[in-house]
Amino acid sequence: MADGALVLFSGGQDSAACLAWALDRYDRVETIGFDYGQRHKVELDCRSRLLGALKQGFPEWAARLGPDHMVPLDGLAAVSETALTGETEITMTEAGLPSTFVPGRNILFFTFAAAVAYRRGLKQLVGGMCETDYSGYPDCRDDTLKSLQATLNLGMETRFVVETPLMWIDKAETWAMIDRLGGALLVDLINEESHSCYLGDRTRRHEWGYGCGTCPACELRAAGWRKFKERAA
Ligand code: ZN
Repeated sequence: MADGALVLFSGGQDSAACLAWALDRYDRVETIGFDYGQRHKVELDCRSRLLGALKQGFPEWAARLGPDHMVPLDGLAAVSETALTGETEITMTEAGLPSTFVPGRNILFFTFAAAVAYRRGLKQLVGGMCETDYSGYPDCRDDTLKSLQATLNLGMETRFVVETPLMWIDKAETWAMIDRLGGALLVDLINEESHSCYLGDRTRRHEWGYGCGTCPACELRAAGWRKFKERAA
C-alpha cells in the first residue's frame, strides 16, 4: 500500500486544517464526507466551497488532490436521537456530554473511511479529532482511535495508520498550524469558508468566521481565534 491519505473532511475548521496538513505531506490525498441527516446542510455546502477555494488558491495542492467520496449514512440518524440530527435543543446530558453527541460516530466514520481507503490503496486515514479543548466525546480520544486502528488492520489485513494531527494541540495552535502551512491566504480561506456552528448560522459574520456566536461550537471557535490573534500580536 503506497503512501497516500484519505482525510475525513466535514467542512469544519478542524478537518480543513487536517486536509491542508495532508496536502503538505502526501503526494496523493483524497477526501471523504458523510451525509447522515445533519440538522443543517450548511456544513456539506461548505465542504464543496472549501475544496474549490483550496484548489484555486493552492495550485500545487490541487495537483495532489484526488476524488471526494461522499457516503450517505442515513442509518445513523435512524438509531440516534441527538441535537445534531434531530430538532432537540442543545443541552448537557446526564453523562456530562453535549446533546450533540452521536454515539460512536467516529468509529463508524473511520470504518467506512477504511473501506474506501482499502479500495483506493491509501494508507493514511486522517481525522481532526482532538483531546485538548474538546467537548468530551469519548470517540475523539487518542486511545479510542489507537484501538480502532488495531481493529481495522486486523479486520482488513492491512497496515492503515490513523493520523490525528490536532490531537494534542488547542484551537489557537490549530490556527497557528494553518498559518504555517499556507500563510494568511489559508487562514483567511478557512476562516471564511469553514463551518463550526451547531445551529448552522451563516448569516452572522464575526472576526472568527460565521455562526450564531453562542452555541458551544461557536464559543470554542471564537476563543481559539482570539488566543491565536493575541499570540500573533
Ligand atoms: Zn453557533
